[in-house]
Amino acid sequence: MNRPELVPARPGDPVREVDTPALLVDLDALEGNIRRMAGVASAARVRLRPHAKAHKSPDIARLQIGAGAVGVCCQKLAEAETMADHGIADILLTYEIVGETKLARLAALAARTRLSVIADHADQVAGYSRAAKAAGVTLSVLVDICPGGMRTGVDAGEPAAALAKEIAAATALRFGGLQAYNGAAQHLRTAAERSTVYEAYARQVAETRDLLARDGLPCETITGAGTGTCELEARGGVFNEIQPGSYVFMDADYAANGASGFEQSLFILATVMSAGRPGFAVVDAGTKAANVDVAMPLVLGHAGARYAGAADEHGKIALDPGAAPLRLGGKLRLVPGHCDPTVNLYDWLVCFRGEVVEAVWPVAARGALL
Ligand SMILES: *Cc1c(COP(=O)(O)O)cnc(C)c1O
Repeated sequence: MNRPELVPARPGDPVREVDTPALLVDLDALEGNIRRMAGVASAARVRLRPHAKAHKSPDIARLQIGAGAVGVCCQKLAEAETMADHGIADILLTYEIVGETKLARLAALAARTRLSVIADHADQVAGYSRAAKAAGVTLSVLVDICPGGMRTGVDAGEPAAALAKEIAAATALRFGGLQAYNGAAQHLRTAAERSTVYEAYARQVAETRDLLARDGLPCETITGAGTGTCELEARGGVFNEIQPGSYVFMDADYAANGASGFEQSLFILATVMSAGRPGFAVVDAGTKAANVDVAMPLVLGHAGARYAGAADEHGKIALDPGAAPLRLGGKLRLVPGHCDPTVNLYDWLVCFRGEVVEAVWPVAARGALL
C-alpha cells in the first residue's frame, strides 16, 4: 500500500465511526469459529492445518495455532514467506511451484521453516530435487491427487503411486504423503450430495494409500478438505489432516450450503454515497471492495435491500417496493459473497467486539501473487 497512514479505524473507536469501505471482523464470532473447528479435528483425532489463503493474516494464523492447529496451508510462495516472516513455523504449500526463480526461493524457505509442497508431475519433482540439493535442504513433497473436476493433481491409483516413487527416489526429497482437496465438493448445496461425493473420492485416496503401503511407501500425511466437507474427512478414517480455510470468516456462498455451525465473522462496511432515486441507492463498495465472482454480497440490517450489482467503485443497492429508503451517508454492513478474494482487496482487518474496535490487523500477505 502506498499510504500506510490511511487506516480506516483505531483501537477504541466506535464501529459506527469506521471509515469506509472497510473490512470488519467480529472477534467473538471469529474466536468461536476457531474453537469449533479445533473441536471438530480433536474429536476425530485428526490434525488441523487451516488454509491461510482465506485470511492472509499471521495474527489469525497464530490464533488458530494457539487453539491446536499444527500449522497452516498456503497457496502462494509469497504467502508462505510472509507467514514464516511472522513466526509461523510449519507450512504446507498446496500449490505446484514451477520456474527456477521460485524454486530457489522455495528451497531458501525450507532452510528456515518446516515446509512441505505438492507435485502432480515428474518435472516438478525434478525441479524440487535440484533446488533442495543446491540449498542443502531436504524438502517434503506430497502427491497431489485430483479427486474430480478440472484442477491440479494426478489420477489416484497407479499414476499417483508412480509419482510417489519418483519423489522417494529423488535426491534431497522426502515422500510426505497425499494431498487430496476436492474444491468442487465444497459448495454442493446439500449434506447428502457432499457425502456421496466424499465417499467416492475417499475410496480412491484409500486405494492409493494401500497401493503405496504394499510397495513399502507409507503415507505419513493424507490431507485435504475445505469448510464444506471437512467434517466428513475428519471422521471418515482415510484423512489424518484437514485443511479448511473459509470457516474462520464464512461468506454468502457458504451460507447457501445451509447451517454449518460456523458464524459469519467478516463484514464489509460501506457508506450510502448516492440515494437520489426511489428504489435505488449506491454504496462505496464495488468490485474493488467486494468480490462478486460466485455470489453477490448480502445486505444486513435493512429489510428489502439487495446488493444487485457492482461496478468498479459502486455497489448498486436495489430496494424492494415498500422497503424504507436508504439515508445518504448511512452505513451498511454487507456479508461478502466470497471471503478469500474479498480479503485480498484490503490492507486492514478492523476487528471489533460489541460496538468497539479492539484491534486493526494488517492483511500481511495481501497481493502475494508471486
Ligand atoms: C481453498 C483451499 C482450501 C480451503 O477451502 P475452504 O473452502 O476455503 O475452506 C483447502 N485446501 C486447498 C488446497 C485450497 O485451495
